[in-house]
Amino acid sequence: MTPKKLAASLTVGALVLTGLTAGGAQAETTSAPTAPSRVPQPPPKNPTAIGYGGAVASVDPEATKVGIDVLRRGGNAVDAAVATAAALGVTEPYSAGIGGGGYFVYYSAKHRKVFTIDGRETAPAAMPADAFINPATGKPYTFFPDLVTSGVSVGVPGTLATWDAALRTWGSLSLKKALKPAAELADRGFLVDQTFRSQTLDNKARFAAVVPTAELFLPGGDAPQVGTVFRNTDLADTYELIGRQGPSAFYRGPLAAEMSAVVKNPPKTPGTTLPVMPGHLTPADLAKYKVLRQDPTRVNYRGLDVYGMAPSSSGGTTVGEALNILEPKKLHRLPTADALHNYLEASALAFADRNAYVGDPAFVNVPTRELLSKGFGAERSCQIDPDKAAVKPVKPGSPDGSYTPCAAGVSTTARPDSKGVSTTHLVAADRWGNVVSYTLTIEQTGGSGITVPGRGFLLNNELTDFSAVPDPADPNRIQPNKRPRSSMSPTIVLKHGKPFLALGSPGGSTIITTVLQTLTNRVDRGMSLPRAVAAPRASQRNTANVTAEPAFIDAYEDRLTPYGHKLVLAGDALTSAAEIGAVAALEFLPGGGYLAAAEPKRRGGGSAATVHQLWPRR
Ligand code: GLU
Repeated sequence: MTPKKLAASLTVGALVLTGLTAGGAQAETTSAPTAPSRVPQPPPKNPTAIGYGGAVASVDPEATKVGIDVLRRGGNAVDAAVATAAALGVTEPYSAGIGGGGYFVYYSAKHRKVFTIDGRETAPAAMPADAFINPATGKPYTFFPDLVTSGVSVGVPGTLATWDAALRTWGSLSLKKALKPAAELADRGFLVDQTFRSQTLDNKARFAAVVPTAELFLPGGDAPQVGTVFRNTDLADTYELIGRQGPSAFYRGPLAAEMSAVVKNPPKTPGTTLPVMPGHLTPADLAKYKVLRQDPTRVNYRGLDVYGMAPSSSGGTTVGEALNILEPKKLHRLPTADALHNYLEASALAFADRNAYVGDPAFVNVPTRELLSKGFGAERSCQIDPDKAAVKPVKPGSPDGSYTPCAAGVSTTARPDSKGVSTTHLVAADRWGNVVSYTLTIEQTGGSGITVPGRGFLLNNELTDFSAVPDPADPNRIQPNKRPRSSMSPTIVLKHGKPFLALGSPGGSTIITTVLQTLTNRVDRGMSLPRAVAAPRASQRNTANVTAEPAFIDAYEDRLTPYGHKLVLAGDALTSAAEIGAVAALEFLPGGGYLAAAEPKRRGGGSAATVHQLWPRR
C-alpha cells in the first residue's frame, strides 16, 4: 500500500478513530516552559501516534526520539530498542539502567517466531539462604528501610549482557553505535520534569544516605529543580568505555571490582540513620553472568496467540493462565461489572498458582506447561462464582496434568507477594515487521540507592523480589546464583501469525494485572488501544482488598461492592501517586501502519512516535 493510501485507510479506519480522543488519550504536545534558549528543548511528547515505517513507545520523549532516529537511519527494531533502553538509563535512571536487569521479547519477521532473552539479575554465589533474616530477632528485616537501600539486595546486573546478546543475534548496529546517542544525551543533559523531581524527592532520605548517590542525584543537597538541565557525564563516560571495550569492560576489570566494592562496603554518609547493609557481590559473580535464551510462553486467547516471558518471570505464566481462566467466561459478551468481576477473580486465582509454583526453573521444578494448559485454566475458571467474589487468599490449584471440570484449590501456605513500584517498558517495531517488547528495571524506584562512584548509574535491589523467609517449600526462596521471581510481562500478540499487539508495563506484581487488564480492555471490551491504556486500573493479587486507582474506584465501586470486592487506593510508602503501571504499547494496523500508544497521564505521560508520522503531524 502506498503511504497515501495507507493514510487514507488509517484516517477512515474505525479502529483508529474510535476512542482516540476518549479517556483523556488525545495528543498532548508539551514544550519546555520558560526555559532559557541554551537549555536543550525536549522533543515533542505525544501519548499516541499513527504512521508507518516503524514505531517506538516509551515513558520518555528523549528515549523515544533516540529509538525513532535509529529506525530512520536504517536500524532495525532491536537496534532501536537497545538505543531507547540506553537512553532510558539516562532520563529514567531510577527505573532502569545497566545496574539492573530485564526481559527482552522479540518477534522476528524473517523467522515468523517469537524469541526471548532472560537478562534477570542473579543472586551472588555467596548469598546465604537467610540473608534477609535479622539475626538479632530471627525475623525478616523490614523492606523499608533495611532491605530497600542496601548492598544485600543487589543482584548481578543483566541489562548490558541483554543488549549485547540482542544486538549480536538480531541487531545491525554494534554496541558502540547503539550506545552513542544515549552517551550524547547523558553528556548534553535533559530538562528535568516534575516526574524526575518527584521521584528524586520521594527517595531523598535514602539517596542522601549514600555518598555517591547524594553527589549525583542531590546536587547542592536537593532534588534538581524542574526546568533545569540534568547532565550525567559519568554515565556518558561509562557508555563510551563500554562502547570502546565491549561488555567485558563492565563484567570484568576495574568497573566490576568497583561494583563489588561498593556493594560490600557501601559508602554511607556520616551520621545517617539508615543501615545500608553490605552485600555479597564479587567480581567472580560478574564475570560468570550469562543471559538465558528460552522459549516464550504462549496461550491462545480467542484466536490470538499471546506470547510472554517464561520463568524466571512469572509474567508469561500468570497473564497466560488468567487468560485461559477467562476464555470460557466470554468477557466480550458480559456487561462491564461482570467482566471486571471475572477479571479480578481470574487474576486472584492465577496469582495463587504463581505464588505456589513459580520460581527460577534452574532451581525449582516449575510446571510451566501445565500452568498454561487449557485443562488447568478450565478447572480454575470453574472456581469463579459469577455473583460473588471468593474469600481471599484463594488456594492454589493442582497443575498436575489431570483435570476435572471443577476442582477446588489445594491447601498450601498462601505466600506474601514481593514489593516494587518502578521499572520501565518500551516497544519498538521496524519497517521489516520485527517487533520488540522489552521491560527493564532496577526494581524499586531508585534501586538499591547505591550509585557506583564516578560511573553514573545506580545498582538494583532486585533480590528483594525473593521471599525473605527461607522456606524449603517456597519456589522463590533465596538460593545462591538463583534469579528472583519477577512479574515483568513483556508481551507480543500475534493474530493469524502476524503481529497484532505488543505491550508491557512497570509496577512490581501489578505489572501482571496491568498487562492483563489492558489486553482485555482492547480485545474484549471494545476499547481502542489508547483507551485501553488510559482506562483506570485495578489489581487483585489474591489479597483481601483490590488495589485501585481513584478513577477506577469512582467509576466502578458501586457496581463491584455487591459482589464483595473491597476497593482500596493504590500506592505505597515511597511513592506519592496512586497510580498502577505505565504501559507502552503498539498495535499493527491493516495496511502496514502502526498505532503507538503510551500513557496520556500516568508518570507524567509517555511518548509514542512513528518514523513517518501521519497523526499527530510533526
Ligand atoms: N522487580 C519487579 C519484578 O521483577 C519489577 C519492579 C517493578 O516494576 O516494580 O517484577
